[in-house]
Amino acid sequence: MARAAKKSGRQPGDVTLIAVSKLQPVSAIREAVAAGQRDFGESYAQELDEKARALADLPIRWHFIGHLQRNKVKLAAPHVSMVQSVDSVRLAQELSAAAQQRNTAIDVLLQVNVGDEAQKSGCSAQEAPFVAEELSRLPGLHLKGLMCIPPFDLDEDDTRRHFIALRALRDRLGGPPLLPHLSMGMSGDFEMAIEEGATMVRVGTSIFGERRRP
Ligand SMILES: *Cc1c(COP(=O)(O)O)cnc(C)c1O
Repeated sequence: MARAAKKSGRQPGDVTLIAVSKLQPVSAIREAVAAGQRDFGESYAQELDEKARALADLPIRWHFIGHLQRNKVKLAAPHVSMVQSVDSVRLAQELSAAAQQRNTAIDVLLQVNVGDEAQKSGCSAQEAPFVAEELSRLPGLHLKGLMCIPPFDLDEDDTRRHFIALRALRDRLGGPPLLPHLSMGMSGDFEMAIEEGATMVRVGTSIFGERRRP
């Protein structure tokens, strides 16, 4: 990460590592925390709830990065410091209400399907300005930027195009300091994502090894 940041004239501290611990044991998370890691990503509300309770003694910031069903919002909301996968106004309203009930506000990213791939989660690039506008009006949410998950089967150039497109969209929607964050890049492509402006990379298997099956 530091090498990729320097290569593109950025500071290593500009990019936050989200250690994606979904389907990994609690013991692995404890080890990572002992090594200094603080930000962890989970994809399933039930699993997040169990792990957050089991690890409540540790200074962890939980990022929700999976598809969040509206009926799971109440389960996830007490634990998250950020939900990176908000992709609809209805989900956003539900999250905002859950945060308000707790007298707090949740940081969120808008997940965008920049390539408009069929059956991918994320709102379309065309809808994004409208959804972002609605999100920024909700009292229980703080919209901090954008997130994307390019399809896994793309070649390097096409993946890079997704990252460039997400950054361009973030900047069109206001850019920093209003929208500081771009969450993009995983085990296979985080260096490229950092070169294209990622402020958060979500890395699982490169840290923890293979996941158990869901
Ligand atoms: C699982 C997951 C990751 C991590 O993927 P790796 O290839 O294991 O690094 C990153 N982002 C999201 C949204 C994920 O679901």
